[in-house]
Amino acid sequence: MFPFATLKKQSPEYLRLSVTDNYNFRPIYSVAENSSENKIPRIQMSPKEFTRLVRAFAKLGVRKVRIIGGEPGVRKDLSEIANSIASVPGIEELTVTTNGTALLPTGSESIPKHIETLRASGISRANINLDTLNEKIFEAINGRNMFSQVLNAIEASIAVKFPLKINSVVMKNTNDNELDAWKAFLKTHPVTVRFIELTPAHGNRNLYQQRGFPLNSWLNSLEREGWIEIPKSELSGPAREFAHPSFAGKIGFILPISQEFCSLCTRIQATNMGFVHTCPFQKTGHNVRHLLQSHLQESELISALSEIIAQKNSTGIPQPSSSLFTQNFSKLGN
Ligand code: SF4
Repeated sequence: MFPFATLKKQSPEYLRLSVTDNYNFRPIYSVAENSSENKIPRIQMSPKEFTRLVRAFAKLGVRKVRIIGGEPGVRKDLSEIANSIASVPGIEELTVTTNGTALLPTGSESIPKHIETLRASGISRANINLDTLNEKIFEAINGRNMFSQVLNAIEASIAVKFPLKINSVVMKNTNDNELDAWKAFLKTHPVTVRFIELTPAHGNRNLYQQRGFPLNSWLNSLEREGWIEIPKSELSGPAREFAHPSFAGKIGFILPISQEFCSLCTRIQATNMGFVHTCPFQKTGHNVRHLLQSHLQESELISALSEIIAQKNSTGIPQPSSSLFTQNFSKLGN
């Protein structure tokens, strides 16, 4: 099931880099049930530490970096981090996953100007987490009513042709009746909306049991309506994407439950505190922060990372019947 046998032969190409574990929304699927927010003040990694880590990973074959959180937009130095990572030789693609906050200015800058600043820092695309087109449901899922601001950020990005993908986790009795609303949105909006199945991680097991929703029925109905699957590009992830000539936008599916995709995985993940995880479902990470304090440590760092990659154990996404546990997703930045 898991790609580690493969990864022992080939280095990971895709680094998911969590730049903070703080967040400003509380999505119900990202926050462990009955947990209090993790607000213990700790010193998060600096742009220099992130860059040293990425430089070492690039020498081991990583070509694509996605900045994740918590919510990356809460870091005031996000552009500085991006700028520094984007200049690392070998990094071909730098993207960010955000709830929209990273696209919203904190000062008097306009949204389009702020997006241009992000683009100039080297970020070539944003994935925006937007689970619903219904304002009330948005607030129920996220604990904050920022629906119109997120929509404004999406509209502004489209206006300045900043590439976007929208991620929507579909949950039973929550937003599982919105396929038609999304199709209406995609008639005129040239973006890709990716529907994602809820995953039964530790901390949201009850939620999964109550709201897990297999998306095969949506995929099958779109195929019947003439949506055609698009061939994958070299750096594309596990999503299956579909297009239709009558729609400006595209639809993607990420189906960790219905269609196993871990066997194709070339990912690795690192946290804002210097822990490297071979998979977000790995219980503990490997701390390499002490090797990020000087560029003179690079060869030691590379050999430590090589060992971590080679030691990967068989894991992957827990299926509903599995007893595998992980930390809640926000801690690892999913
Ligand atoms: S869960 Fe994600 S990171 Fe882990 S093996 Fe599967 S695809 Fe890779």
